[in-house]
Amino acid sequence: MGGTLLYEGKTKIVELSEDGQSVILTFKDDITAGDGAKHDVLALKGQYCSEITARLMHYLNTKGIYTMFLNYIPPNKIRARKLKMIPLEVIVRFKKAGSFVRRYGGTEGEDLPVPLVEFTYKSDVMHDPLMCIEHLEVLGILSMQHATIIIDEAKKAATLLKELFTLHGFELWDIKFEYGFDESGNICLGDEISPDTMRLRKAGEMFDKDIYRRNLGNPIEKYEVVLNLCRSILL
Ligand code: C5P
Repeated sequence: MGGTLLYEGKTKIVELSEDGQSVILTFKDDITAGDGAKHDVLALKGQYCSEITARLMHYLNTKGIYTMFLNYIPPNKIRARKLKMIPLEVIVRFKKAGSFVRRYGGTEGEDLPVPLVEFTYKSDVMHDPLMCIEHLEVLGILSMQHATIIIDEAKKAATLLKELFTLHGFELWDIKFEYGFDESGNICLGDEISPDTMRLRKAGEMFDKDIYRRNLGNPIEKYEVVLNLCRSILL
């Protein structure tokens, strides 16, 4: 492999495939927090997060969610659909935590009455500002119609994952998705689904990046638990 480099971010490299028909995502071992202020390299993280993403996106595909996932290339790559990414983080929350509690109060882990979808604009310098649908439209980031589709798709995907984890004793508190447009203009779920991008808990224990954000040590063993769960329950 070694196609044209399209993009290199904090945790991923995106290259065009040899035939130009798809992209190859390489998951790096880097982990960051606080808009890049905290940065470390954790052995095996890229491998674990790519395989977890592959298995969870494949699961979502089987449930009728349109994702970028085409196939997993061990140990740390995914072949994916070419997408024009929308510069937004789409967060679905089932419980209050993290920036929600900082902004609106309440207690970590408290239930929300209904799933909540938030949009933040991807910009480290602006600290990922929260956006209303009208901001998205006025700023030309996303039409109202596409925003509505994404809200619906994000709730569906998050609920499928929540139900899957619940069956196996884990609580999905919240999750972040990123979307793009495929070559026909359809909205497609892209990026990553891993313990880096969700809050996953079991009996008060963290199985996600909050371990790293809060300086509670190397989270890789907990990521491995999530990978083993995905291996045991998903193709
Ligand atoms: O920090 P906050 O409460 O807004 O995070 C909500 C969810 O989105 C968490 O699961 C977190 O891991 C994820 N997230 C992310 N990337 C970011 C910000 C949040 O994956 N840049």
